[in-house]
Amino acid sequence: MSGSRRLPPVPESAVATAAVDVGTQPVDVLRGVGPANVEALARLGIRVLQDLWFHLPLRYEDRTRITRIRDLEPGRDALVEGIVSGVERSFRFRPLLRVAIDDESGATLTLRFFHFRSQQVDAFEPGARFRVFGEVRHGAQGLEIIHPEYKRLAFDAPLDAALTPVYPLTEGLGQKSLLRLVRDALRMMPASEAFDVLPESLRRRLQLGDLRSALWKVHAPAADDDVAALLAGSHPAQRRLAVDELLAHQLSMRRVRRTLRGQPAAVLTGASSRRDRLLQSLPFALTGAQSRVLGEIDQDLVSGVPMLRLVQGDVGSGKTIVAVLAALSAVDAGCQAAVMAPTEILAEQHLRIFSQWLAPLGVRVVWLAGKVQGKARNTALQEIAGDAEVVVGTHALMQDGVNFRRLSLVVIDEQHRFGVHQRLALREKGIDGSTVPHQLVMTATPIPRTLAMAAYADLDTSLIDELPPGRQPVQTVALRASRRDEVIERIRIACSEGRQAYWVCPLIEESDQLEAQAAEATFDHLRAVLGGIRVGLIHGRLRPKDKQRVMDEFKNGALDLLVATTVIEVGVDVPNASLMVIENAERMGLAQLHQLRGRVGRGSAQSSCVLLYQSMSDLARERIRVMRETNDGFRIAEKDLELRGPGEMLGTRQTGLIGFRVADLARHGHELPAVRDAAEWLLEHAPTAADVLIARWIGAGVRFAEA
Ligand code: ADP
Ligand code: MG
Repeated sequence: MSGSRRLPPVPESAVATAAVDVGTQPVDVLRGVGPANVEALARLGIRVLQDLWFHLPLRYEDRTRITRIRDLEPGRDALVEGIVSGVERSFRFRPLLRVAIDDESGATLTLRFFHFRSQQVDAFEPGARFRVFGEVRHGAQGLEIIHPEYKRLAFDAPLDAALTPVYPLTEGLGQKSLLRLVRDALRMMPASEAFDVLPESLRRRLQLGDLRSALWKVHAPAADDDVAALLAGSHPAQRRLAVDELLAHQLSMRRVRRTLRGQPAAVLTGASSRRDRLLQSLPFALTGAQSRVLGEIDQDLVSGVPMLRLVQGDVGSGKTIVAVLAALSAVDAGCQAAVMAPTEILAEQHLRIFSQWLAPLGVRVVWLAGKVQGKARNTALQEIAGDAEVVVGTHALMQDGVNFRRLSLVVIDEQHRFGVHQRLALREKGIDGSTVPHQLVMTATPIPRTLAMAAYADLDTSLIDELPPGRQPVQTVALRASRRDEVIERIRIACSEGRQAYWVCPLIEESDQLEAQAAEATFDHLRAVLGGIRVGLIHGRLRPKDKQRVMDEFKNGALDLLVATTVIEVGVDVPNASLMVIENAERMGLAQLHQLRGRVGRGSAQSSCVLLYQSMSDLARERIRVMRETNDGFRIAEKDLELRGPGEMLGTRQTGLIGFRVADLARHGHELPAVRDAAEWLLEHAPTAADVLIARWIGAGVRFAEA
């Protein structure tokens, strides 16, 4: 690693660790913290003093200055002062209190309350002066604030001197108490030299300020601090903390990697007569990129050290066959390979493809999904513990009771749907006392480099950066939903010419039941108006058997049009389908649109994609513009990161994979190469400092250990 060479070695003893002792004292050493508070704090993951130091504000509220009503901007918090000029109370549909406030700028702001007591109503006397705070928005009568904080002013009241930090809260613990606890804890922070475990040389190289003052700054900004920078998240103190946080994540993932790579793995040789036979039986030759990536995998597999490799490749780049070839290497060595996909539809498709290519070579392919129950499950489990050679399934493969005979390779497809914990769980499955399985992770949502570096810090990366020959970019148009009939007509013509089409129904996040109902309604309608066209329906609520049947019919050409929910988003491969309609495209994110569109343009026919929309926000318009402009998954991914932020992009906000507290990959992602070097250097030269950083930011590695 280049960074390791540039840094002078620092003896471990020079890394002060005394600070840890203060930081690891339980929170009840603070005055006024009793059992109830201890419990509430624990719900926030706060147990010791340093957890309070690193419980960072989510954002800030600015009550340091008053904004004139005329200058208010919707979408922002503001502190406003004015005179009550009107009060209106109504009960027509539900209780409503409206208070009009005027100020010297000659404009009016409405305060709106949906629940209130009569005392409150009385307090808003016309002519009285109020100071109010809240988020300004567009209302029916101009700008308004719903349920503002408010205070009647008798005399001039002083403004806040500094920004107010807003903390993540839990029941039984308010902002004020938490603020006080954090400040009390901060006062107990040790002096800088003892506290900052990053060696001076490293800090200089990364141009990092002092940790102790950075923490004071973000928790208790001073009156003369750069308010704008703090609110924007671009203050140097925030950068210092963000870099520490990124470093802690890198450290914890790189450490997992080191631990795994310190153990032996089965030696699997790629070249074999069966591989040659398989390659000869394919109706195509591998692309240059596929061969290159296969070569990289082959090298890993013979090394005797567990492979930890991510294969990135745009939709349709042909990742599956590479995985099939890798699995065959495991089988040829007398071992087993497991292939895991995030949805049943996709796992079933893999079952079909793996069986199609491997069964003729005499390889035993076995299926295990959550729905496999009873006797069938017992049989599958016996086979997995016995002579199964390739096991394909969903996350059911990771459940207790699934024991492999000799698992040597794990293939995980469409990784972005799994959390890091799940990945770790399957790794453990393979440890049969002597070896650790190789791991091949494949993702079809190409993610930006920076994001990959953060999310897959434990993996090496291979890139399939070439599509099979003859592919034509999908032509994309956006149409108002009012032109639906024209689109239906177009489908009729295309289908009667022997083309196949998808009709994707709106995404309804809250309920897959509503989503299924909407799909059924669309299906009924399309079937009624498209006489002579064979229409099928697939959604997440169908029984696996029925899903399978419908997919088979579509694949065999027994159906012309497939009405589907977004269940077909990932991985589904029907090369003859060349037309796709996506309803309510304005509701979908870029990654999802790209995935969906990737279902067409897989054969050599010119394909098209119609994005239907009802109404468009600026954001939706921007997304659809990107979709029309490019088919390049990487460009789309970069744009997605910019528009949505990284947490949502990986669908991992819930799993805590990259639930960063201060780091923001769009802002700090460019620091990652340096941070990664620094992490390697620390693991090598200052492992105790690494422990401290991981404990501070990730909590003693607990979160990564929990599956
Ligand atoms: P993805 O990378 O999205 O998982 P798939 O593995 O599903 O892509 O491959 C997409 C389609 O391309 C499949 O129908 C597959 O058989 C075909 N394919 C894969 N490799 C090649 C190749 N080298 N030449 C032509 N077609 C290929
Ligand atoms: Mg795929």
